Amino acid sequence: MKSEAMYTLKGVGFRYGREWVLKNIDLTIERGEILGIIGPNGSGKTSLLKILGRHLNPLEGELWLESKRLSTIPLLALARRVSTVPQEHPVVFSYTALEMVLMGRYPYLKGWAFESAGDHRIARAAMERMGVERFSDRLFAELSGGEKQRVIIARALAQQPQILLLDEPATFLDLHHQSQIYSLLGELNRDEKMTIVVVSHDLNMASQLCRRLLLLKEGRMAGLGTPWEVLTEKGIEAVYHCRTLIDSHPTTGKPRLTMVPD
Ligand code: ADP
Repeated sequence: MKSEAMYTLKGVGFRYGREWVLKNIDLTIERGEILGIIGPNGSGKTSLLKILGRHLNPLEGELWLESKRLSTIPLLALARRVSTVPQEHPVVFSYTALEMVLMGRYPYLKGWAFESAGDHRIARAAMERMGVERFSDRLFAELSGGEKQRVIIARALAQQPQILLLDEPATFLDLHHQSQIYSLLGELNRDEKMTIVVVSHDLNMASQLCRRLLLLKEGRMAGLGTPWEVLTEKGIEAVYHCRTLIDSHPTTGKPRLTMVPD
């Protein structure tokens, strides 16, 4: 398959204050790929994801979505293409779970119109896919962390994006729901050709799911390539300062990490 660039980043840098938290990021994200962003706490993963979703603008370098500079794309048009599952979501007290998911339809609403029957159908289908339809009428604020997370993912799906950006989507989820979300991401990528960028601190999950991994260290690129290229015992020790054993996962053949206590 001929690869085509969805995102192109050239020399992207960002800082909140004096210190650069991202520097010299040169990266092409291909259409239809699953890219994992990994790295220790504070290495810039969330900031980079926010830049891809245009929640932050780079302070240096260039950022393109296909042939357009990301900063020139009107926000509503962007929202029809890119949806984000953030790490934290503000708790909105008076909304039900269904109302939260319906918010995913806002880029498609005309003027001040209410959501149509079609929007409701799409929102309900997204809720079914995430197994949260039974919470439809419950207040979002009263759901558990894992239930909230699945509702937020349903909202992102209701947005029907071409590109899905997720920041630690499996936090708060139990093993069953973690495996559900990772299978779903694989399915969306395979069947719907969705381009997926996922920040994860779970290196094993990232290894199984992602075609390529970007390893960040203190805002710089410390590795970019297939899981076998990036997840090496030496490379992980240099970035995370801990020892691991890496072997081949018995069923998938992808790298598997085991911590080695000091
Ligand atoms: P990661 O996702 O890898 O943990 P982040 O992108 O969240 O890293 O953070 C990178 C750096 O930027 C950290 O040093 C963090 O403290 C800093 N940072 C993140 N958000 C803000 C903010 N809103 N204001 C100031 N500094 C921030």
